[in-house]
Amino acid sequence: MIIGVYGYQDSGKTALVEELVRELSGKGYRVSSVKHSPHTKEVDAPGKDTWRHSNAGSDPVALQAADSTVIIKKPGLDLDAIVKIVRREFCPDILIVEGHKEGDFPKIAVGDVKPTEGTVMVNPELEDAVAYIEERATHESTYDKLPKLDCGKCDMTCANMASEIVGGRKRFDDCIEMPERPVEILIGGRKLPVGAFVARITEGTVRGLLSSLKGYSETGDVEIRLRASADETKSEPSGE
Ligand code: SF4
Repeated sequence: MIIGVYGYQDSGKTALVEELVRELSGKGYRVSSVKHSPHTKEVDAPGKDTWRHSNAGSDPVALQAADSTVIIKKPGLDLDAIVKIVRREFCPDILIVEGHKEGDFPKIAVGDVKPTEGTVMVNPELEDAVAYIEERATHESTYDKLPKLDCGKCDMTCANMASEIVGGRKRFDDCIEMPERPVEILIGGRKLPVGAFVARITEGTVRGLLSSLKGYSETGDVEIRLRASADETKSEPSGE
């Protein structure tokens, strides 16, 4: 799940983020965070080696060290793109975004700031904020495991089914469209709803086609990427 924390400078929002990260990661959640800043000068000051690489045209520039890694991308990515990368590469249970008061995710306001749309708490106690985030994270991760077809075959919506499962009144088996094994299909980075039939056919067809290829493993995950446009490296040879 994504939760935002926003407020004016020196309002205590970073302190709250710090406490939330400590508390939630202490409970076993994988927590990532994004901090909004007007600039990244502290890591990419003019004259520094990374700045010189970037200035010469390298894009992105990675600063690699044993204790941490910094990737510098110019111009800066928007929040959606960063969220997509963090989710894809690091799969956090909870992603805390500090410094964005807009955005289509629940937010916590800190200090004397006018709450924006989607604000679910204003200056909450830490335990209330943690309880809210845990409840949302549990619901969202349950919902994410459902096919999300909203087919109504269980006489409710997928969101209601997720609530019932979290409440212990239903199980994943109660979803008639639940695939035996998860099959993920993404178009342009967006996950499509996949029911039991499509999952079974897709898995059987793809694994059947790949089974004769060298290196194929029946037990390995399979990823196939189909490009919408031709790779430039495959373009017509010139000068012939
Ligand atoms: S049967 Fe499954 S996919 Fe269909 S609405 Fe219920 S929970 Fe969603």
